[in-house]
Amino acid sequence: MTDFKVIAHEIASQEGCTTLGLVGSAEERYPLYQIKRGRGKKVLISAGVHGDEPAGVHAILRFLKEEIQKYEDRFEFTIFPCMNPYGLVKSTKRNAQDLNINRQFKEGSAAEEVNLIRAQLEEYEFTMDLHETGPDSFMDPDEPSEEHPSAFYLWETCEDKDLRVGTEIVKNIEKMGLPVCKWPTIYDDINNGGVIWYPENCGTPIYAAGTTFEAYLHAHHTKQAFTIETPSGWKLKDRILAHIVSLRTVLDKK
Ligand SMILES: [Zn+2]
Repeated sequence: MTDFKVIAHEIASQEGCTTLGLVGSAEERYPLYQIKRGRGKKVLISAGVHGDEPAGVHAILRFLKEEIQKYEDRFEFTIFPCMNPYGLVKSTKRNAQDLNINRQFKEGSAAEEVNLIRAQLEEYEFTMDLHETGPDSFMDPDEPSEEHPSAFYLWETCEDKDLRVGTEIVKNIEKMGLPVCKWPTIYDDINNGGVIWYPENCGTPIYAAGTTFEAYLHAHHTKQAFTIETPSGWKLKDRILAHIVSLRTVLDKK
């Protein structure tokens, strides 16, 4: 189990941190945090949508500690560092109501986390949601899957091909000596050397439903939405590094 108390204390002590509300079960409520920092182009960074994918939460804390100063005069950051705190505490993908938050981005969602976050959303230059892939990642009864990548990959939803930076993210990940998934398809989506470009390479019905955070953000709040995936089998330090390299690559391009 991830020590949520330590993480929550670290998040809460960040400059610009507010609590949007408490979420979880009737007995166990945990704060849903938002951090606002900087000035300039608006960007959104999020992690911990799935509670059993902790690397993104740690990567955001590392970014806040070591890197955000370099970017604060060019970007206004909105950060949701831990979108499913109950899931993180329990090390489960779903929230306390047994909902996959990443299928709940819609009007009248039953997920309280989603409703608190939707109320905060603005228009962003880009968005980046940090996830992890492992044997449990797609273990929803309605989404069976046979194979799971054990290397890095990402989704980039962006119609404008000139804006896309997925290939550069992959190059920078490989420069760090970290492996990238080169399968021709990942979960039925077409994979281009580690990047799945939406909308044209979408092969699963999940995205078309429009209720993932990435799909919702692209439909309503940004032209360019990323979902980063690190394999849960890697060492935590490498997973954190891969998330930070991904974020840095896009920020440095803007
Ligand atoms: Zn995930």
